[in-house]
Amino acid sequence: EAKDGGRARYSFYVPGLDVQIRERLSMANLLRHAAERGELTLLYQPLIDLRSGRVVAAEALLRWNSEELGAVAPDLLVPVAEDAGLIPQIGGWVLERACATAARWQAIAPCRVAVNVSSLQLQAPESFSEQVDLALKRSGLSAGLLELEITEGVLLRDRPTIGALLADLDRRGIRLSLDDFGTGYSALSYLRRFPFHVLKIDRSFIAGIPDNQEDAELTRAIIAMAQALDLSVLAEGVERPEQRAFLLEQRCDLAQGYLFSRPIDADALGAMLARQGEVTRG
Ligand code: C2E
Ligand code: MG
Ligand code: MG
Ligand code: MG
Repeated sequence: EAKDGGRARYSFYVPGLDVQIRERLSMANLLRHAAERGELTLLYQPLIDLRSGRVVAAEALLRWNSEELGAVAPDLLVPVAEDAGLIPQIGGWVLERACATAARWQAIAPCRVAVNVSSLQLQAPESFSEQVDLALKRSGLSAGLLELEITEGVLLRDRPTIGALLADLDRRGIRLSLDDFGTGYSALSYLRRFPFHVLKIDRSFIAGIPDNQEDAELTRAIIAMAQALDLSVLAEGVERPEQRAFLLEQRCDLAQGYLFSRPIDADALGAMLARQGEVTRG
C-alpha cells in the first residue's frame, strides 16, 4: 500500500473511485439481464392540461427492481446503461412497452405517451428510427400519440444528423419535447431550428415559485417565449397549489408533478382516465 516503507507506490490509488468503478461494472452486468428477468418496469406520470385539469398525456419513467441491488433510480441506471452499450436494447424495450400500453389506454380515453430518449439513441439515427417504427407498428398506436422527450445536451453534439432525424420524426407526426429546459446551455436558437412541439420547464425553476422572485420571473419569461414561438409549455415538478395558480395565471399550458399525481402503474393511469370520462359524462 502507499504506506509501505514510506514509498508512495500507489499514490494514484483512489479507494472511493475504485469502488465506484467496480460497482458500475457489476451493475452493468446485472442490467444486461434485467429486461429478460422481468426486473424492468415503466411507471407513468400524468401530464395535466392546466385549464381543464384533465390528463392529456403520461410520461413513461423507467424503474429497475434488481434482485441483487434493490430499486435503482433512473438517474443512476441510465448513465450506466449508456457506458455499457445497453441503451439500444433498453431504449427499444421502453419504446415498445410504452407504445403498447398507450395503445390500450385509447380504448378508455385519448391520451398521449411521452418517452425519454437518451442522447446515445439519437446518435444512431437509423436504428432509432427503426425502433420507433417497430414500436408504433406492433402496438398500432398512431404516431400523433407518441411524444419523444429530448434534453438539449444532445443538440450541441451533432447537428446535421440529429437535425435530419428530428425533422423526419416530425414529418411522421411524432411530437418532440425539449426536456429539462433551462438546465443546460439553453441556446434559444434550438427552438427555432428544431421542430419541437413542447417545452418542459425544469423542476428547479418551478420549485421556487411563487416566492422566489428570480425563479418566478424566469418562469414567466420562459412561458412568454414559448408562446411567442407557438410551442406548448409544460411545468415540471408542480407540488403545491400556489404553483398551479401562478402557472395558470401565466397561461402555462401543461403541468406535471406530485400535486396531480406521482408516477403510477399503467393500470392506475388507465383507471384515472376512466374516472375522468365518468366526470365528463356527469
Ligand atoms: P425527467 O425526464 O425530467 O422526468 C421527471 C422526473 O421528475 C421523474 O424522476 C419524476 O418522477 C420526477 N418528478 C415528477 N414530478 C415531481 C415532483 O413534483 N417533485 C419531484 N421532486 N420530482 C418529480 P425519475 O422517474 O426519477 O426520472 C429521473 C430521470 O431519469 C428522468 O428525468 C429522465 O431524464 C430519466 N429517465 C427516466 N426514465 C427514462 C427512460 O426510460 N429512458 C431514459 N433515457 N431516461 C429516463
Ligand atoms: Mg422527461
Ligand atoms: Mg424533465
Ligand atoms: Mg428532469
